[in-house]
Amino acid sequence: MALRTAEQYRAGLRDDRKVYILGKQVSDVTEDPHIKVGVETAAFDFLMGHDPAMRDLAVMKDPETGEEISTYFEVPDDPECVTRRHELVKAACYYADCALPFVKDVGTDIMNGLKSVARIMGNKTYEERIDDYRWHCARNDLSMSGAVTDVKGDRSKSPSGQGSPDYYLRIVDETEDEIVVSGAKAHITASAYTDEILVVPTRNLTEEEADYAVAFAVPVNTPGITQICRPSFRYEDKHHFPTPRPRRGHLEALVIFDNVRVPKDRVFLLREWPFAQYVAYAFAAFHRFTAVTYKIPILEIMTGLGMLAAEANGVAKAAHVREKFVNMIRYTETTKALAKAAHMDPENFRGSGLYIANCLTSNMAKLHFASNFHEFVRDIQDICGGILVTQPTYQDWQNTELKPYLERYMGGAGDYSAEQRLKLMSTLHHVAASDFAGWHEVCTVHAEGSFAAQKMMLSIEAPMEVYRERAKAIVELGV
Ligand SMILES: Cc1cc2nc3c(=O)[nH]c(=O)nc-3n(C[C@H](O)[C@H](O)[C@H](O)COP(=O)(O)OP(=O)(O)OC[C@H]3O[C@@H](n4cnc5c(N)ncnc54)[C@H](O)[C@@H]3O)c2cc1C
Repeated sequence: MALRTAEQYRAGLRDDRKVYILGKQVSDVTEDPHIKVGVETAAFDFLMGHDPAMRDLAVMKDPETGEEISTYFEVPDDPECVTRRHELVKAACYYADCALPFVKDVGTDIMNGLKSVARIMGNKTYEERIDDYRWHCARNDLSMSGAVTDVKGDRSKSPSGQGSPDYYLRIVDETEDEIVVSGAKAHITASAYTDEILVVPTRNLTEEEADYAVAFAVPVNTPGITQICRPSFRYEDKHHFPTPRPRRGHLEALVIFDNVRVPKDRVFLLREWPFAQYVAYAFAAFHRFTAVTYKIPILEIMTGLGMLAAEANGVAKAAHVREKFVNMIRYTETTKALAKAAHMDPENFRGSGLYIANCLTSNMAKLHFASNFHEFVRDIQDICGGILVTQPTYQDWQNTELKPYLERYMGGAGDYSAEQRLKLMSTLHHVAASDFAGWHEVCTVHAEGSFAAQKMMLSIEAPMEVYRERAKAIVELGV
């Protein structure tokens, strides 16, 4: 099959998947006013392959058949793949109005993680299975979500120490041809509107926890899968001043697996408990770089919006506002520089022959991004003023009795008319003061792993011995 169109992608989602939102089952995720936000954001992925402006980055030839496939499926077996991936993810995010389409990157990050672990294990069967699965998804141009995070119950305990066996997903039955799994994965981005879902363990496990050491992939409409979504924002919010294109974003779901049958040719880890932590680590190594890459367009646009707000309010030259510009620039450009340093210094992941961006630098980039985002938003909020949360709505602007008042009183500095200022502040409200903005702040902290996860990887990846040896060389300690 050739690269699908956006319409073919939407049609593929009408497949009797079991998705709930606000307590009600959804009959067609492409038509639900909340889920549609995510569907239309993801649909950009399927526009890229047909757009001459994007094709160089978004399309590659299938190495076996020569057919066109999405570049996301490229096996990163040379260092240059890392830079290509960086450019693709960044361009996709600009293309989709600053929201990554997000339906091929996480799935292929998991595939790359699983393939590298299969090689580290020396397990040819798993490597062949994951390759078969990669080409199945590539040749059918499928979208994928990644389910890593378990519900976890008491965080201080591993699966076997929990009050319930259900706090981590596990194998509950096995026959010669299939396994049966039960459990729930939390916060899964885009799973309500992807074709496939890949599942991997989230942590290290012990021998008695071998049933929890399982990785597999299934279509999202497989019997036994139920998804509970919550809205991010409505596709058309009548309060907002219209923008040239609708606002983009994603939805997460609690994905429940209730005795789901998985054929063994889609199983990539089956009770090999010592390797569960490698799978989780390898996925994080690949995915964290995707994360920092897609933040770059977001930060650039938010910085620009903050500067426009200062212009509109006539405070762009005030000393304290210029200092805020410097803070915003420093934050944005440091994130970009770290992401650039990471892809320009790729590494052969644990000798697996698969290349990733420099793991230490990617984690520093993510930690830097996540640690400073709230201050960045605070500065934007300060520049905007209270209008960020109190401004009259677009419905008021459309009211013929109210509009003359708004025109008279809501204008800004210089050439900023009331309409221009309200339009600008409406977008700023969305990025810095809305429900979505709150979601975004939590997303920066937790999505792609919270602070402790990055700190753990920093301490594993940092050249501690080099530091020690250099210090010892200048102090005669005798140790
Ligand atoms: C918007 C969004 C999108 C996401 N998308 C996906 C997705 O597509 N797929 C996916 O698999 N996951 C996804 N996630 C999940 C994300 O990876 C997790 O939120 C993150 O790993 C933190 O896990 P948690 O939410 O369970 O928080 P918790 O683990 O409960 O963390 C809360 C606090 O407890 C601490 N903590 C946790 N365990 C321990 C421990 N044992 N010892 C000491 N401290 C501990 C943490 O460091 C943190 O400070 C997404 C999350 C968000 C917010």
